[in-house]
Amino acid sequence: MRLFDTYTRALVELPPPPGPIRIYVCGPTVYQRIHIGNARPFVLSMWLKRWLEESGYEVRLAENITDINDKIYAAAPGHSAELAEQASRWYVEDTSLLGLGRPDYEPKASETIPEIVGLIGQLVDGGFAYPAGGDVYFRVAAFPEYGRLSGREGDHDALHNPSEEAERDELKEDPRDFALWKAHKQGEDTVWESPWGRGRPGWHIECSAMAEKFLGPVFEIHGGGNDLIFPHHENEIAQSRAAGDEFARMWMHNGMLQLTGEKMSKSLGNIVSLHDAIQEWGREAILLFFMNGQWRKPIEFSDEVMAQASAQAETFRNYFVGLEPEPEEEIERDALARVLDDDFNTPDALALFHDWRARGRTASLRWGLELFGLGDLAETVAAPAELVALAERRQEARAGRDFDEADRLRGEIEDQGWEVRDVADGFELVPK
Ligand SMILES: [Zn+2]
Repeated sequence: MRLFDTYTRALVELPPPPGPIRIYVCGPTVYQRIHIGNARPFVLSMWLKRWLEESGYEVRLAENITDINDKIYAAAPGHSAELAEQASRWYVEDTSLLGLGRPDYEPKASETIPEIVGLIGQLVDGGFAYPAGGDVYFRVAAFPEYGRLSGREGDHDALHNPSEEAERDELKEDPRDFALWKAHKQGEDTVWESPWGRGRPGWHIECSAMAEKFLGPVFEIHGGGNDLIFPHHENEIAQSRAAGDEFARMWMHNGMLQLTGEKMSKSLGNIVSLHDAIQEWGREAILLFFMNGQWRKPIEFSDEVMAQASAQAETFRNYFVGLEPEPEEEIERDALARVLDDDFNTPDALALFHDWRARGRTASLRWGLELFGLGDLAETVAAPAELVALAERRQEARAGRDFDEADRLRGEIEDQGWEVRDVADGFELVPK
């Protein structure tokens, strides 16, 4: 299997099964319900894990939760810890609704402080970092490979660290330097002890420490959105390699999600949470939407593309409803391996699923859908007529803005083990 690696800008072959394949992915900073775009690295890494395991690999996936950050302090002055705790639960709840399982490890920065302080101490001792005014900074000049991942190594000015966190530039030896430890500031309600005084870690060092703690000094794949290449991942490499770790062998950066369509940007103020998107379109449509995009490229999110994704979900669902059990044909595994082992081409995998549907390759299709968390589309039972009637009454209630009645009918449907979802052209009933 080969995947595109940002560091070498080339397709890189993975070691043969069973590997192991150790994967670290930068997870969300938690201060609100996650945006639909933040779900992309989660979905991609869970699919990759499932496919690698299906292919005989031993996989260990660590995906962190950043629960110490300026954004969190700013969002909840005086009680950032409670907000981070709450938003971490939302993140786990919302991504669990996708039905893809969980990563093997989901470390939080706040639970990794001893390792973070230890790593900073190692960098200070080695001359790669220096304390200043209660902070500690990484000394970029001591690490000549700096800038190689992002391709900015020759350009001194471009390497000024545009941290998303406030840093005290006047304390730095060099504008390229970045904070590993930050002295306690007024208004910050979480604080830890360190040899350099009370404070809290900078964002970049958290990931270096968590990756080493859960995966060891070297691992095969590092993932995350391509907005993290510089400075976050450049800084992770500098910290970990300066500390003597080989760190990530390859880098997998997913493209960003773009909101398009006039209606969407107007009505939703450009913010669509994963939670709301699942409520509105259902998890299958969300997963099919992500499958439609090649992971490295940007992906456009709009009412129109979601309507298309919902229609695809319906096409698969309708294929299975009422289907009589058939003798099991052999699964066309090689056909799927050809597209997934070639830089994990999910749009081609989806095209193959449609081909299997058209050719009546039921067992292959069910197997492929289950692999991508879409096994519910392969249910062969349709909702009983009385439930369809309840769902229709609920729609009428909603149209008449009688939301109490609509909620009551939803509850009645749920009591019978079904879920009603609103889709572009009405509703659908899904077994729970
Ligand atoms: Zn990170």
